Amino acid sequence: MIRAEAISKSFGKLNVLRNVSVRLDAGRVVAVIGPNGSGKTTFIKTLLGMVVPDSGTVLFDNQLIEKQHTYRSQIGYMPQIGHYPANLKIRQLFEMMVDVRKNAATQLDEDLVEAFHLKGLFEKPLGTLSGGTKQKVSAALAFLFNPSVLILDEPTAGLDPLSSEILKEKIQKEHQNGKLILITSHVMSDLDELATDVLYLQDGSVQFYKTITELKLETGENKLGRVVAQLMSQPRKSHQNIKTLEFSSLQI
Ligand code: ADP
Ligand code: MG
Repeated sequence: MIRAEAISKSFGKLNVLRNVSVRLDAGRVVAVIGPNGSGKTTFIKTLLGMVVPDSGTVLFDNQLIEKQHTYRSQIGYMPQIGHYPANLKIRQLFEMMVDVRKNAATQLDEDLVEAFHLKGLFEKPLGTLSGGTKQKVSAALAFLFNPSVLILDEPTAGLDPLSSEILKEKIQKEHQNGKLILITSHVMSDLDELATDVLYLQDGSVQFYKTITELKLETGENKLGRVVAQLMSQPRKSHQNIKTLEFSSLQI
């Protein structure tokens, strides 16, 4: 569904992405993990066309994304930090988004609007919202147009435990509907319940990209946090993973 081929990106002297090649298929929930600054957000943004790579290509349904913008309407994106005009009310933001998409025939998905009780907050200006409420707005918008791909950058950051559970249930529901879901998170236990695959970035390079089942078998660990800790504490082993990466990512 989405293919990134040999993506590299530098900001000045900093190589943020180094030759990243991955294939992301419908029906998968891919956890993109790695230390702060390892390039997760930049990688996500290249898939959305928000960051243009220095070299390499991104294909969406076998089409180069640089030649078209329409593919974006098939992606629901929840940014790591949502920036909204401070004076705009939540209601106005939703109306504006619906208006922009008014030709789209899709039925609106208001599951999260309802579960997060956002209608009760509709008259609040976005500038007055707490970080967590802003996250809820961003999440509800990402799912609103029932997109076939969801790209969620640190979706549970700043959410209270109940809201976090609500969002995770929604992600699971959309996974069952066969969507492709990409999630970055620092909360390994959240990803444990959701992810089918793990893409591990370090210093902009893919350290491994494997199914959760493979990783658990390989390490003998059951929890994703332990799996990652074990792989990253064995430099030689993770080096081997780099070599098998292209092969295994092609097979997924
Ligand atoms: P992550 O999401 O894994 O924490 P990012 O992709 O946000 O990492 O950032 C990777 C590195 O690239 C960081 O060192 C960050 O400071 C740098 N970076 C990201 N965007 C820009 C930009 N627009 N200009 C300059 N440096 C950037
Ligand atoms: Mg980030």
